[in-house]
Amino acid sequence: MNIAFITSEAYPFAKTGGLADYSYSLPKALAKRGHSVHLFLPRYYCVDKHRFQCTLIGEPLAVPIGNGIRWAGIYYTTYLDDVHTYFIEHDDYYGRDGLYDYNGVAYNDNAERFIYFCRACIEAMKQLAIAPGIIHCNDWQTALIPLFLKTHYIHESVFQKAKSLLTVHNVGYQGVFIKEVLQLMQLPDNLYNSEHIEFFGNVNFLKAGIVYADYITTVSKKYAHEIQEHEYGYDLSTVFKSHNKKLFGILNGVDYEHWNPEKDNLIPHTYSITDLSGKHKCKKALQEFYGLPKNNFPIIGCISRLTYQKGIDILINTLDWLFFDEKEVQFVIVGSGEQWIIERFEALRAMFPDRIGVWWGYNEKLAHLIEAGSDFYVMPSRYEPSGLNQMYSLAYGTIPIVRATGGLDDSIEQFDEKLTTGNGFKYKNNDSAELYTAIRYALRVYRNNFLMKKIINNAMLFKRSWDNTAKEYEELYYTISKKYQ
Ligand code: ADP
Repeated sequence: MNIAFITSEAYPFAKTGGLADYSYSLPKALAKRGHSVHLFLPRYYCVDKHRFQCTLIGEPLAVPIGNGIRWAGIYYTTYLDDVHTYFIEHDDYYGRDGLYDYNGVAYNDNAERFIYFCRACIEAMKQLAIAPGIIHCNDWQTALIPLFLKTHYIHESVFQKAKSLLTVHNVGYQGVFIKEVLQLMQLPDNLYNSEHIEFFGNVNFLKAGIVYADYITTVSKKYAHEIQEHEYGYDLSTVFKSHNKKLFGILNGVDYEHWNPEKDNLIPHTYSITDLSGKHKCKKALQEFYGLPKNNFPIIGCISRLTYQKGIDILINTLDWLFFDEKEVQFVIVGSGEQWIIERFEALRAMFPDRIGVWWGYNEKLAHLIEAGSDFYVMPSRYEPSGLNQMYSLAYGTIPIVRATGGLDDSIEQFDEKLTTGNGFKYKNNDSAELYTAIRYALRVYRNNFLMKKIINNAMLFKRSWDNTAKEYEELYYTISKKYQ
Protein backbone atom coordinates (compact mmCIF):
# COMPACT_ATOMS: atom_id res chain seq x y z
CA MET A 1 0.00 0.00 0.00
CA ASN A 2 1.08 3.56 -0.70
CA ILE A 3 1.04 5.41 2.64
CA ALA A 4 1.73 9.08 3.37
CA PHE A 5 2.65 9.60 7.02
CA ILE A 6 2.49 13.24 8.08
CA THR A 7 3.87 14.39 11.40
CA SER A 8 5.31 17.46 13.11
CA GLU A 9 8.21 15.50 14.63
CA ALA A 10 10.10 12.24 14.10
CA TYR A 11 13.24 10.77 15.65
CA PRO A 12 16.12 11.31 14.87
CA PHE A 13 15.33 14.50 12.93
CA ALA A 14 13.29 16.49 15.44
CA LYS A 15 11.95 15.39 18.82
CA THR A 16 10.12 16.88 21.78
CA GLY A 17 8.29 13.76 22.99
CA GLY A 18 6.71 10.39 22.32
CA LEU A 19 5.23 11.44 18.95
CA ALA A 20 8.77 11.51 17.54
CA ASP A 21 9.42 7.91 18.57
CA TYR A 22 6.09 6.78 17.19
CA SER A 23 6.76 8.62 13.91
CA TYR A 24 10.08 6.81 13.61
CA SER A 25 9.04 3.32 14.65
CA LEU A 26 5.67 2.93 12.94
CA PRO A 27 6.73 4.09 9.43
CA LYS A 28 9.80 1.84 9.65
CA ALA A 29 7.73 -1.15 10.73
CA LEU A 30 5.21 -0.52 7.94
CA ALA A 31 7.99 -0.25 5.36
CA LYS A 32 9.46 -3.49 6.65
CA ARG A 33 6.11 -5.12 6.03
CA GLY A 34 6.44 -4.17 2.36
CA HIS A 35 4.48 -0.92 2.18
CA SER A 36 5.67 2.15 0.35
CA VAL A 37 5.88 4.79 3.09
CA HIS A 38 6.32 8.55 2.51
CA LEU A 39 7.10 10.48 5.68
CA PHE A 40 6.59 14.28 5.71
CA LEU A 41 8.04 16.73 8.25
CA PRO A 42 8.82 20.44 8.48
CA ARG A 43 12.50 21.28 7.85
CA TYR A 44 13.18 22.76 11.26
CA TYR A 45 16.45 24.42 12.02
CA CYS A 46 17.52 21.30 13.97
CA VAL A 47 17.15 19.07 10.89
CA ASP A 48 20.74 19.14 9.69
CA LYS A 49 20.60 18.73 5.91
CA HIS A 50 24.20 17.64 5.72
CA ARG A 51 24.04 15.05 8.50
CA PHE A 52 20.82 13.56 7.15
CA GLN A 53 21.99 13.69 3.51
CA CYS A 54 19.01 15.71 2.30
CA THR A 55 18.75 16.78 -1.32
CA LEU A 56 16.51 19.39 -2.84
CA ILE A 57 14.01 17.78 -5.20
CA GLY A 58 11.21 18.85 -7.54
CA GLU A 59 10.25 22.38 -8.52
CA PRO A 60 9.85 25.23 -6.04
CA LEU A 61 6.54 24.51 -4.32
CA ALA A 62 3.77 27.10 -4.49
CA VAL A 63 1.72 26.83 -1.29
CA PRO A 64 -1.52 28.83 -1.02
CA ILE A 65 -2.06 30.60 2.29
CA GLY A 66 -4.08 33.67 3.27
CA ASN A 67 -4.28 36.08 0.36
CA GLY A 68 -1.57 34.54 -1.74
CA ILE A 69 1.18 32.03 -2.19
CA ARG A 70 4.36 31.31 -0.24
CA TRP A 71 7.11 29.24 -1.78
CA ALA A 72 8.63 26.16 -0.17
CA GLY A 73 11.47 23.77 -0.95
CA ILE A 74 11.13 20.00 -0.72
CA TYR A 75 14.12 18.09 0.66
CA TYR A 76 14.37 14.34 0.40
CA THR A 77 16.42 11.68 2.17
CA THR A 78 16.63 7.91 2.47
CA TYR A 79 18.32 8.23 5.87
CA LEU A 80 15.65 5.94 7.33
CA ASP A 81 16.38 3.25 4.71
CA ASP A 82 13.05 2.15 3.28
CA VAL A 83 11.08 5.16 4.47
CA HIS A 84 11.00 7.95 1.87
CA THR A 85 11.41 11.09 3.95
CA TYR A 86 10.49 14.61 2.77
CA PHE A 87 11.04 17.92 4.54
CA ILE A 88 9.08 21.06 3.79
CA GLU A 89 11.45 23.99 3.98
CA HIS A 90 10.20 27.49 4.60
CA ASP A 91 12.60 29.27 6.91
CA ASP A 92 10.20 32.03 7.97
CA TYR A 93 8.14 29.35 9.68
CA TYR A 94 10.51 26.54 10.64
CA GLY A 95 14.00 28.04 10.74
CA ARG A 96 13.91 28.48 14.51
CA ASP A 97 15.41 26.84 17.58
CA GLY A 98 12.21 25.29 18.96
CA LEU A 99 9.60 23.14 17.23
CA TYR A 100 6.53 24.73 18.79
CA ASP A 101 7.85 27.19 21.36
CA TYR A 102 10.81 29.11 22.61
CA ASN A 103 11.65 28.44 26.27
CA GLY A 104 8.15 27.17 26.97
CA VAL A 105 6.34 30.08 25.30
CA ALA A 106 4.37 28.91 22.25
CA TYR A 107 5.16 30.75 19.01
CA ASN A 108 2.38 33.21 18.28
CA ASP A 109 2.17 32.12 14.63
CA ASN A 110 1.73 28.39 15.31
CA ALA A 111 -1.67 28.37 13.58
CA GLU A 112 -0.12 29.82 10.43
CA ARG A 113 2.92 27.51 10.61
CA PHE A 114 0.84 24.37 10.69
CA ILE A 115 -1.87 25.52 8.27
CA TYR A 116 1.02 26.07 5.90
CA PHE A 117 2.60 22.71 6.66
CA CYS A 118 -0.68 20.86 5.99
CA ARG A 119 -1.21 22.61 2.66
CA ALA A 120 2.45 22.20 1.70
CA CYS A 121 2.38 18.42 2.26
CA ILE A 122 -0.69 18.09 0.06
CA GLU A 123 0.86 20.31 -2.63
CA ALA A 124 4.11 18.31 -2.43
CA MET A 125 2.28 15.02 -2.94
CA LYS A 126 0.55 16.58 -5.95
CA GLN A 127 3.79 17.83 -7.46
CA LEU A 128 5.65 14.57 -6.86
CA ALA A 129 2.66 12.50 -8.05
CA ILE A 130 2.56 10.48 -4.84
CA ALA A 131 -0.94 9.04 -4.98
CA PRO A 132 -1.39 7.63 -1.47
CA GLY A 133 -4.06 5.12 -0.52
CA ILE A 134 -3.83 6.31 3.08
CA ILE A 135 -2.83 9.68 4.44
CA HIS A 136 -1.98 9.11 8.11
CA CYS A 137 -2.00 12.37 10.14
CA ASN A 138 -0.98 12.89 13.76
CA ASP A 139 -2.26 15.31 16.39
CA TRP A 140 -3.53 18.85 15.89
CA GLN A 141 -0.52 20.02 13.88
CA THR A 142 -1.54 17.88 10.90
CA ALA A 143 -5.25 17.51 11.64
CA LEU A 144 -6.28 20.04 8.98
CA ILE A 145 -5.22 17.73 6.17
CA PRO A 146 -8.49 15.72 6.18
CA LEU A 147 -10.41 19.00 6.07
CA PHE A 148 -8.36 20.35 3.15
CA LEU A 149 -8.71 17.06 1.26
CA LYS A 150 -12.48 17.32 1.51
CA THR A 151 -12.62 20.99 0.51
CA HIS A 152 -9.79 22.46 -1.58
CA TYR A 153 -8.64 19.13 -3.05
CA ILE A 154 -11.90 17.24 -3.39
CA HIS A 155 -11.57 16.99 -7.19
CA GLU A 156 -7.82 16.42 -7.32
CA SER A 157 -7.16 13.25 -9.32
CA VAL A 158 -4.00 12.27 -7.41
CA PHE A 159 -6.08 11.98 -4.21
CA GLN A 160 -9.05 10.15 -5.69
CA LYS A 161 -8.19 6.98 -3.78
CA ALA A 162 -6.72 8.69 -0.71
CA LYS A 163 -8.40 8.08 2.65
CA SER A 164 -7.40 9.94 5.75
CA LEU A 165 -6.65 8.63 9.23
CA LEU A 166 -5.97 10.89 12.20
CA THR A 167 -4.13 9.50 15.23
CA VAL A 168 -4.77 11.37 18.46
CA HIS A 169 -1.81 10.94 20.80
CA ASN A 170 -2.99 13.18 23.63
CA VAL A 171 -6.30 15.06 23.78
CA GLY A 172 -4.65 17.54 26.14
CA TYR A 173 -3.22 19.32 23.06
CA GLN A 174 -5.83 20.54 20.56
CA GLY A 175 -4.55 23.55 18.61
CA VAL A 176 -7.19 26.16 19.45
CA PHE A 177 -6.89 29.53 17.68
CA ILE A 178 -8.90 32.66 16.98
CA LYS A 179 -11.53 32.66 14.25
CA GLU A 180 -9.43 34.88 11.96
CA VAL A 181 -7.18 31.90 11.08
CA LEU A 182 -9.98 30.73 8.76
CA GLN A 183 -8.80 33.34 6.32
CA LEU A 184 -5.31 31.78 6.30
CA MET A 185 -6.93 28.43 5.49
CA GLN A 186 -8.84 30.05 2.63
CA LEU A 187 -12.04 28.46 3.85
CA PRO A 188 -15.52 29.96 3.77
CA ASP A 189 -17.19 31.24 6.95
CA ASN A 190 -19.97 28.68 6.62
CA LEU A 191 -17.63 26.01 8.08
CA TYR A 192 -17.43 28.09 11.22
CA ASN A 193 -20.22 26.37 13.14
CA SER A 194 -20.29 23.81 15.94
CA GLU A 195 -20.85 20.89 13.53
CA HIS A 196 -17.55 21.64 11.83
CA ILE A 197 -14.59 23.53 13.18
CA GLU A 198 -15.98 26.14 15.55
CA PHE A 199 -15.20 25.51 19.22
CA PHE A 200 -16.47 27.91 21.88
CA GLY A 201 -15.85 30.96 19.73
CA ASN A 202 -12.53 29.71 18.35
CA VAL A 203 -11.24 27.32 15.70
CA ASN A 204 -10.06 23.92 16.95
CA PHE A 205 -7.66 22.08 14.61
CA LEU A 206 -8.02 18.72 16.36
CA LYS A 207 -11.79 18.98 16.11
CA ALA A 208 -11.47 19.62 12.36
CA GLY A 209 -9.52 16.38 12.11
CA ILE A 210 -12.06 14.42 14.15
CA VAL A 211 -14.93 15.67 12.02
CA TYR A 212 -13.28 15.29 8.60
CA ALA A 213 -10.92 12.29 8.87
CA ASP A 214 -12.27 9.06 7.42
CA TYR A 215 -11.02 7.23 10.52
CA ILE A 216 -9.57 8.23 13.88
CA THR A 217 -7.31 6.22 16.15
CA THR A 218 -5.89 6.71 19.61
CA VAL A 219 -2.84 4.92 20.96
CA SER A 220 -4.73 2.38 23.08
CA LYS A 221 -8.20 0.85 23.05
CA LYS A 222 -9.04 2.01 26.54
CA TYR A 223 -8.13 5.62 25.74
CA ALA A 224 -10.44 5.51 22.70
CA HIS A 225 -13.30 4.80 25.13
CA GLU A 226 -12.14 7.19 27.81
CA ILE A 227 -11.97 10.26 25.56
CA GLN A 228 -15.69 9.99 24.98
CA GLU A 229 -16.14 10.96 28.64
CA HIS A 230 -15.68 14.51 29.82
CA GLU A 231 -12.98 13.61 32.36
CA TYR A 232 -10.59 12.50 29.59
CA GLY A 233 -11.91 14.06 26.37
CA TYR A 234 -12.43 17.46 27.93
CA ASP A 235 -14.72 19.61 25.79
CA LEU A 236 -14.18 17.34 22.79
CA SER A 237 -15.75 14.31 24.47
CA THR A 238 -19.12 14.86 22.79
CA VAL A 239 -17.41 15.31 19.41
CA PHE A 240 -15.55 12.01 19.89
CA LYS A 241 -18.79 10.35 20.92
CA SER A 242 -20.69 11.52 17.89
CA HIS A 243 -17.91 10.18 15.64
CA ASN A 244 -17.23 6.99 17.57
CA LYS A 245 -18.16 4.67 14.68
CA LYS A 246 -14.89 5.62 13.05
CA LEU A 247 -12.86 5.74 16.28
CA PHE A 248 -10.46 2.89 17.17
CA GLY A 249 -7.57 2.24 19.52
CA ILE A 250 -4.24 0.62 18.60
CA LEU A 251 -1.62 0.26 21.32
CA ASN A 252 1.90 1.55 20.64
CA GLY A 253 4.84 -0.84 20.53
CA VAL A 254 8.24 -1.21 22.14
CA ASP A 255 11.54 -0.87 20.33
CA TYR A 256 13.15 -4.07 21.60
CA GLU A 257 16.45 -3.17 19.97
CA HIS A 258 16.72 -0.39 22.50
CA TRP A 259 14.86 -1.81 25.50
CA ASN A 260 16.14 -5.32 25.94
CA PRO A 261 17.96 -6.48 29.12
CA GLU A 262 19.82 -9.15 27.14
CA LYS A 263 21.76 -6.62 25.06
CA ASP A 264 21.23 -3.22 26.66
CA ASN A 265 24.60 -1.45 26.69
CA LEU A 266 23.34 1.30 29.00
CA ILE A 267 23.10 -1.06 31.98
CA PRO A 268 26.12 -2.45 33.87
CA HIS A 269 25.00 -6.11 33.74
CA THR A 270 22.78 -7.77 31.14
CA TYR A 271 20.37 -10.59 31.97
CA SER A 272 17.56 -12.74 30.58
CA ILE A 273 14.40 -14.54 31.64
CA THR A 274 16.42 -17.69 32.33
CA ASP A 275 19.20 -16.00 34.29
CA LEU A 276 18.32 -13.01 36.44
CA SER A 277 21.68 -12.73 38.21
CA GLY A 278 22.49 -9.58 36.19
CA LYS A 279 19.29 -7.98 37.45
CA HIS A 280 20.40 -8.41 41.07
CA LYS A 281 23.71 -6.77 40.22
CA CYS A 282 21.89 -3.91 38.51
CA LYS A 283 19.90 -3.45 41.71
CA LYS A 284 23.11 -2.96 43.68
CA ALA A 285 24.37 -0.52 41.04
CA LEU A 286 21.12 1.42 41.32
CA GLN A 287 21.40 1.61 45.11
CA GLU A 288 24.97 2.71 44.71
CA PHE A 289 24.03 5.45 42.25
CA TYR A 290 21.46 6.90 44.64
CA GLY A 291 23.61 6.37 47.73
CA LEU A 292 21.05 4.04 49.32
CA PRO A 293 22.00 1.10 51.57
CA LYS A 294 22.70 -2.01 49.48
CA ASN A 295 20.15 -4.25 51.17
CA ASN A 296 17.48 -6.55 49.75
CA PHE A 297 14.56 -4.25 50.36
CA PRO A 298 12.24 -4.06 47.36
CA ILE A 299 12.89 -1.00 45.20
CA ILE A 300 10.05 0.87 43.53
CA GLY A 301 11.21 2.92 40.53
CA CYS A 302 9.72 5.77 38.56
CA ILE A 303 10.82 7.63 35.38
CA SER A 304 8.54 10.46 34.48
CA ARG A 305 7.77 13.89 33.22
CA LEU A 306 6.73 15.70 36.37
CA THR A 307 3.33 17.00 35.33
CA TYR A 308 -0.20 16.86 36.65
CA GLN A 309 -1.05 14.19 34.01
CA LYS A 310 1.41 11.75 35.53
CA GLY A 311 -0.20 11.85 39.01
CA ILE A 312 3.13 12.26 40.81
CA ASP A 313 1.43 14.37 43.50
CA ILE A 314 -0.80 11.40 44.31
CA LEU A 315 2.26 9.20 44.53
CA ILE A 316 3.91 11.59 47.00
CA ASN A 317 0.85 11.40 49.29
CA THR A 318 0.97 7.61 49.12
CA LEU A 319 4.70 7.38 49.78
CA ASP A 320 4.42 9.72 52.74
CA TRP A 321 2.03 7.27 54.31
CA LEU A 322 3.75 4.09 53.10
CA PHE A 323 7.19 5.01 54.42
CA PHE A 324 5.82 5.45 57.94
CA ASP A 325 4.02 2.09 57.83
CA GLU A 326 6.54 0.05 55.90
CA LYS A 327 10.18 0.24 56.90
CA GLU A 328 11.62 -2.20 54.38
CA VAL A 329 11.17 -0.50 51.02
CA GLN A 330 13.17 1.90 48.88
CA PHE A 331 12.02 4.31 46.18
CA VAL A 332 13.96 5.95 43.33
CA ILE A 333 12.93 8.48 40.72
CA VAL A 334 14.35 10.33 37.72
CA GLY A 335 12.19 13.13 36.41
CA SER A 336 12.01 16.55 34.92
CA GLY A 337 9.21 19.05 34.97
CA GLU A 338 7.27 21.21 37.37
CA GLN A 339 9.03 22.77 40.33
CA TRP A 340 6.19 22.30 42.83
CA ILE A 341 6.43 18.52 42.37
CA ILE A 342 10.21 18.60 42.87
CA GLU A 343 9.83 20.61 46.06
CA ARG A 344 7.26 18.21 47.50
CA PHE A 345 9.52 15.29 46.70
CA GLU A 346 12.53 16.95 48.27
CA ALA A 347 10.53 17.48 51.46
CA LEU A 348 9.63 13.79 51.54
CA ARG A 349 13.20 12.72 50.88
CA ALA A 350 14.41 14.87 53.76
CA MET A 351 12.25 12.69 56.03
CA PHE A 352 13.51 9.36 54.62
CA PRO A 353 16.96 10.05 53.14
CA ASP A 354 18.18 6.45 53.36
CA ARG A 355 15.13 5.07 51.57
CA ILE A 356 14.33 7.61 48.85
CA GLY A 357 16.63 8.53 45.95
CA VAL A 358 15.90 11.40 43.56
CA TRP A 359 17.60 12.74 40.41
CA TRP A 360 16.07 15.74 38.62
CA GLY A 361 16.56 16.20 34.90
CA TYR A 362 16.51 14.02 31.79
CA ASN A 363 18.87 11.06 32.00
CA GLU A 364 18.42 8.22 29.56
CA LYS A 365 21.15 6.01 31.01
CA LEU A 366 19.66 6.30 34.46
CA ALA A 367 16.22 5.48 33.02
CA HIS A 368 17.64 2.16 31.77
CA LEU A 369 19.29 1.46 35.13
CA ILE A 370 16.01 2.11 36.95
CA GLU A 371 14.18 -0.28 34.63
CA ALA A 372 16.82 -2.96 35.20
CA GLY A 373 17.56 -2.47 38.90
CA SER A 374 14.10 -1.89 40.38
CA ASP A 375 11.71 -4.59 41.52
CA PHE A 376 8.57 -2.58 40.86
CA TYR A 377 7.72 0.33 38.63
CA VAL A 378 4.97 2.78 39.53
CA MET A 379 2.79 4.78 37.11
CA PRO A 380 -0.01 6.64 38.90
CA SER A 381 -1.17 8.53 35.80
CA ARG A 382 -4.36 10.57 35.76
CA TYR A 383 -4.57 9.61 32.10
CA GLU A 384 -2.13 7.72 29.88
CA PRO A 385 -2.96 7.50 26.15
CA SER A 386 -0.49 4.63 25.61
CA GLY A 387 2.42 4.75 28.03
CA LEU A 388 5.71 3.09 27.25
CA ASN A 389 7.48 2.71 30.57
CA GLN A 390 5.09 0.06 31.82
CA MET A 391 5.96 -2.04 28.75
CA TYR A 392 9.69 -1.40 29.14
CA SER A 393 9.34 -2.52 32.77
CA LEU A 394 7.75 -5.80 31.71
CA ALA A 395 10.68 -6.48 29.38
CA TYR A 396 13.09 -5.94 32.30
CA GLY A 397 11.12 -8.14 34.73
CA THR A 398 10.26 -5.07 36.79
CA ILE A 399 6.67 -5.34 37.91
CA PRO A 400 4.38 -2.43 37.05
CA ILE A 401 2.01 -0.94 39.61
CA VAL A 402 -0.32 1.22 37.55
CA ARG A 403 -3.56 3.08 37.52
CA ALA A 404 -5.98 1.23 35.19
CA THR A 405 -6.24 3.95 32.57
CA GLY A 406 -5.54 4.12 28.82
CA GLY A 407 -2.63 2.01 27.60
CA LEU A 408 -1.76 1.04 31.18
CA ASP A 409 -5.02 -0.84 31.44
CA ASP A 410 -4.56 -2.43 27.99
CA SER A 411 -1.04 -3.73 28.63
CA ILE A 412 -1.09 -4.67 32.31
CA GLU A 413 -3.04 -7.66 33.56
CA GLN A 414 -3.79 -7.83 37.28
CA PHE A 415 -1.81 -10.56 39.04
CA ASP A 416 -3.93 -13.41 40.34
CA GLU A 417 -2.01 -15.32 42.99
CA LYS A 418 -4.24 -18.41 42.87
CA LEU A 419 -3.93 -18.87 39.12
CA THR A 420 -0.49 -17.20 39.02
CA THR A 421 -1.60 -15.25 35.95
CA GLY A 422 -1.08 -11.56 35.27
CA ASN A 423 1.94 -9.31 34.96
CA GLY A 424 1.35 -6.42 37.36
CA PHE A 425 -0.83 -4.60 39.87
CA LYS A 426 -3.62 -2.23 38.99
CA TYR A 427 -5.93 0.09 40.86
CA LYS A 428 -8.94 1.89 39.53
CA ASN A 429 -9.46 5.33 40.95
CA ASN A 430 -7.19 8.27 41.02
CA ASP A 431 -6.76 7.99 44.73
CA SER A 432 -3.74 7.70 47.03
CA ALA A 433 -5.45 5.12 49.26
CA GLU A 434 -6.05 2.80 46.30
CA LEU A 435 -2.44 3.21 45.20
CA TYR A 436 -1.34 2.48 48.77
CA THR A 437 -3.34 -0.77 48.78
CA ALA A 438 -1.88 -1.82 45.41
CA ILE A 439 1.69 -1.19 46.61
CA ARG A 440 1.11 -3.06 49.89
CA TYR A 441 -0.17 -6.02 47.92
CA ALA A 442 2.87 -5.89 45.61
CA LEU A 443 5.20 -5.85 48.62
CA ARG A 444 3.44 -8.88 50.06
CA VAL A 445 4.00 -10.74 46.78
CA TYR A 446 7.67 -9.69 46.87
CA ARG A 447 8.11 -11.55 50.16
CA ASN A 448 6.88 -14.78 48.55
CA ASN A 449 9.67 -16.12 46.35
CA PHE A 450 7.42 -18.48 44.42
CA LEU A 451 4.88 -15.80 43.51
CA MET A 452 7.54 -13.24 42.72
CA LYS A 453 9.26 -15.62 40.32
CA LYS A 454 5.95 -16.33 38.61
CA ILE A 455 5.03 -12.71 38.09
CA ILE A 456 8.51 -11.82 36.81
CA ASN A 457 8.25 -14.67 34.36
CA ASN A 458 4.82 -13.54 33.19
CA ALA A 459 6.08 -9.99 32.78
CA MET A 460 9.11 -10.97 30.73
CA LEU A 461 7.00 -13.09 28.39
CA PHE A 462 4.90 -10.06 27.41
CA LYS A 463 5.74 -8.76 23.93
CA ARG A 464 4.34 -5.79 22.08
CA SER A 465 6.64 -5.00 19.19
CA TRP A 466 6.19 -2.24 16.62
CA ASP A 467 5.56 -4.99 14.11
CA ASN A 468 2.48 -6.05 16.16
CA THR A 469 1.32 -2.44 16.11
CA ALA A 470 2.03 -2.03 12.38
CA LYS A 471 0.03 -5.16 11.61
CA GLU A 472 -3.03 -3.67 13.31
CA TYR A 473 -2.65 -0.39 11.43
CA GLU A 474 -2.26 -2.30 8.21
CA GLU A 475 -5.56 -4.13 8.81
CA LEU A 476 -7.26 -0.84 9.58
CA TYR A 477 -5.83 0.79 6.43
CA TYR A 478 -7.27 -2.04 4.33
CA THR A 479 -10.63 -1.76 6.09
CA ILE A 480 -10.73 1.97 5.40
CA SER A 481 -9.80 1.53 1.76
CA LYS A 482 -12.43 -1.17 1.20
CA LYS A 483 -15.13 0.70 3.01
CA TYR A 484 -14.82 3.80 0.88
CA GLN A 485 -14.05 2.20 -2.49
P1 ADP B 1 5.12 10.36 27.95
O1 ADP B 1 5.37 10.20 26.47
O2 ADP B 1 3.71 10.80 28.28
O3 ADP B 1 6.14 11.21 28.64
P2 ADP B 1 5.66 7.52 28.12
O4 ADP B 1 5.71 6.52 29.22
O5 ADP B 1 4.79 7.17 26.94
O6 ADP B 1 5.26 8.93 28.67
O7 ADP B 1 7.15 7.71 27.58
C1 ADP B 1 8.08 8.44 28.26
C2 ADP B 1 9.45 8.19 27.66
O8 ADP B 1 10.32 9.20 28.10
C3 ADP B 1 10.06 6.91 28.11
O9 ADP B 1 10.93 6.43 27.15
C4 ADP B 1 10.82 7.34 29.39
O10 ADP B 1 11.79 6.43 29.74
C5 ADP B 1 11.34 8.68 28.97
N1 ADP B 1 11.55 9.65 30.06
C6 ADP B 1 10.64 10.44 30.65
N2 ADP B 1 11.23 11.24 31.57
C7 ADP B 1 12.54 10.93 31.57
C8 ADP B 1 13.68 11.40 32.29
N3 ADP B 1 13.59 12.36 33.21
N4 ADP B 1 14.88 10.86 32.01
C9 ADP B 1 14.98 9.89 31.10
N5 ADP B 1 13.97 9.40 30.37
C10 ADP B 1 12.76 9.92 30.60
